[in-house]
Amino acid sequence: MSRSVRTRPEGSGQTLSEAYDTALLDLDGVVYAGGRAIGHAVDSLAAARAGGMHLAYVTNNALRTPDAVAAHLTELGIPTGADDVITSAQAVARLVAEQVPAGARVLVIGGEGLRVALRERGLEPVESADDDPVAVVQGYGGPELPWGRFAEACYAIARGVPWYASNTDLTIPGARGIAPGNGAAVEVVRIATGATPQVAGKPLPPMHRETILRTGARRPLVVGDRLDTDIEGAFNGDVDSLLVLTGVTDAARLLAAPPQHRPTYVDADLRGLLTGQPEVVAAEADGAFRCGGWTASAGAERLVLEGDGEALDGLRALCAAAWTAAGEGECALEADKALARLGL
Ligand SMILES: [Mg+2]
Repeated sequence: MSRSVRTRPEGSGQTLSEAYDTALLDLDGVVYAGGRAIGHAVDSLAAARAGGMHLAYVTNNALRTPDAVAAHLTELGIPTGADDVITSAQAVARLVAEQVPAGARVLVIGGEGLRVALRERGLEPVESADDDPVAVVQGYGGPELPWGRFAEACYAIARGVPWYASNTDLTIPGARGIAPGNGAAVEVVRIATGATPQVAGKPLPPMHRETILRTGARRPLVVGDRLDTDIEGAFNGDVDSLLVLTGVTDAARLLAAPPQHRPTYVDADLRGLLTGQPEVVAAEADGAFRCGGWTASAGAERLVLEGDGEALDGLRALCAAAWTAAGEGECALEADKALARLGL
C-alpha cells in the first residue's frame, strides 16, 4: 500500500510533540545550517521539550564526538547533553564490536568521533595496516585527512581485513558549495581495492537500531530534511517521519518521491512539531485530495491544484494526489504550475 502524507496524528487533536515520545532529529538542514541555527529551531525545540517530548539528535557525521555536537547545540541555545547525540561512529563501532573479539585492534580512517566510539565499545583504535588490525573502519576525516590514510585502508583490506564505513553520504553541502563526503572517500578505497564495506549510517538499520537502543524511544518520530537518508531510514525502521523544507529537499523533489522516500508529515520548519495540523481528505468521487482550502488532483500530464489558503496545505494535498497516482513508482507528472501557485 502506498503511503499518503498524513497531517494529523492518529487520534487527532494532538500536536506531533504530544503524539510522539521522542524526536529523532537530523542536524544539518534541520536544526542548523552552516553553523547557525535555522529559523524557529531554537524556540520550537524548547517548546517541544517543555511539553514533555524527548529530543535526540541523530547524525551521519562521524567526525565530531557526541560531546562536541552537544556543546555546539548548547551554544546555539539548544541545551543538549552528550547522551542525547547519536552518531554513525557509534553505530559502526557497535557493528564492528559484534563481529570481532573484545579488545581487538581496529584501523581507523577518520576522526576523533570514530576513535572515541570504538574505545567506548572496548576496541583499540590503531593507525597502521602493520598494527595487525582485525577490522578497518572508515568515517569522515575532515578536510585535513591525509591521502596516505586511504593507502593504509587499502593495504589492510588487500590482506583480507574486513572493511566498515560509518556512512556513505557522497556530499557535504556548505556555504561555498558541495564538498566530498565520506561516501566519496569510501569510493576511493572501493575503486582501489574492489572491496565493499559494511555500512552503518542512515538509512541503514544499524543506525536506527543504535538510536532506539540509546534513546529508549517507544513512539519515535524521525525529523529530517533528506529523503534518501532521514526519511528512508525511518521507512526502513517502520517509524513515522516529518520532513522539513529547511534543508536539501524542495517541494518538487518531494512530489516525485518513491514510496520509501515519502514522509508521514511535511512542514516548512520545526514549528511543525507544535501544531495540530489540518487533515488531507480523499474525495472518493473525483479522485481529488483536499487540505485546507486546496484541492489537488492528477491530470493526464500534470498535477492540478485549485483553491487557496496556506501553501503547506496545498503541498500536502499535492503529495496525496501525486503519490496515489504514482503508486509504487515515482510521480512524473508536471508540477511546476501547481507549485508556482504555492510559491514553492
Ligand atoms: Mg540533513
